Amino acid sequence: MKHFLFSALSLTLSVSLAFPTYSLPLKQRGNYNTQLKESINNALPKLESLYLKLHQAPELSLHEEKTSKLMAEQLKLLGFTVTENIGGFGVVGLFKNGNGPTVMIRTDTDGLPIIEQTGKTYASTATTIDQHNNTVGLMHGCGHDIHMTSFIGTAQQLMAYKNQWQGTLMMVAQPAEEVGAGAKAMLKEGLFEKFPKPDHVLGLHVSAALPAGEVAIAPGYALANVDSVDIIVKGKGGHGAYPHTTIDPVVIASRIVLALQTINSREISPLEPSVITVGSIHGGAKHNVISDQVKLQLTLRSYNQAVRTQQIAAIKRLTKGIAISAGLSESLYPTVFVQDENTPSTYNNLEQTLKVKKSIEEAIGKAHVVESKPVMAGEDFGRYGLTQDNLPITIFWLGGVEKSLYQQSLKTGETLPSLHSSKFAPDYPLTIKTGVSAMTTSALDLFNQK
Ligand SMILES: [Zn+2]
Ligand SMILES: [Zn+2]
Repeated sequence: MKHFLFSALSLTLSVSLAFPTYSLPLKQRGNYNTQLKESINNALPKLESLYLKLHQAPELSLHEEKTSKLMAEQLKLLGFTVTENIGGFGVVGLFKNGNGPTVMIRTDTDGLPIIEQTGKTYASTATTIDQHNNTVGLMHGCGHDIHMTSFIGTAQQLMAYKNQWQGTLMMVAQPAEEVGAGAKAMLKEGLFEKFPKPDHVLGLHVSAALPAGEVAIAPGYALANVDSVDIIVKGKGGHGAYPHTTIDPVVIASRIVLALQTINSREISPLEPSVITVGSIHGGAKHNVISDQVKLQLTLRSYNQAVRTQQIAAIKRLTKGIAISAGLSESLYPTVFVQDENTPSTYNNLEQTLKVKKSIEEAIGKAHVVESKPVMAGEDFGRYGLTQDNLPITIFWLGGVEKSLYQQSLKTGETLPSLHSSKFAPDYPLTIKTGVSAMTTSALDLFNQK
């Protein structure tokens, strides 16, 4: 039984964000933007303290108990009908506001086992015990605290301006993104059956490569298929001085590593992005002993599902072929194990994504929105668009880098701390403000089919 300590967690549930209802003339966009900006500015101090609370109390994937309670509490205070514990610690907040489309907005909620080293006064000092019984740091190193704060800020604005839209707002706080399990678990538990099926699904992810105040958006593929694959290479061990009496799995594994390079270079179309990385290779214990097995750990990336299938089939075929050529019997052929923890690629629906891009341009200015290229990172947000309903989904990148640091890195060529870095410290006030503004405007426009 896993046992977790929450030594430094002190989430209080008192950050009330209830807000007055605004009236605003929707057709006058200038006025509309000014009013919205003003009400977001007014909301910022409380949102910033919500951010700091979340930042200082991260929880690991599948253990987001207190975080999800806080999300549920905030949504209830804003007037949503809230259901908790969907697919683990998932939370769904619903607000039905007359006839119209259903817009789903998703945040993820989990943190990472990282000791924060940003040097910030508000840095997380939380620790926990992981499943291997090791004490590990806890950090929102992927910025999911920014996502949650923007999510609550957006819910608050949409409630404040509820006389400006009609339809159903579905706020989904999803756990376990970092292990690729949360979206799958929520969908399996009937997210689109027990609750209204969304007409539009929106999400955002903070970017560690874009300045705060800016947004990047990729129409089409945005993030990749991600698979973890384990290969156990077997052999016949023996004395290092008598290799002819053995079948050396280290040599077989080496041949496999090189052969895998030809999958991308000679089997998959050069027009299809594909990554096959052997991130770990372990075998043997001593200089003069030929071992019985070697373990390889791979990460696979692609966009196209057919390419993913092709990668896996080729790995199985090549490893088997090399084992045969080494003279191994069938019982000693390598085993190729594709882990369940896979993430399918995220495809941003073209029509919806261009609409969202236009809305964000109106919200934060055209100069602050760029079209981005897809990346080989993964996000389980893609799953919401891969059910049989084929729902249109859009995720955008929310710039998080402090502007001066960004400029400095352009000048010096020094790389910025990436997501999952212990030194990643977003410029949270501007990032949250931009996130709320971009997401609120996008949702309002989708409700009103602008
Ligand atoms: Zn992450
Ligand atoms: Zn993330």
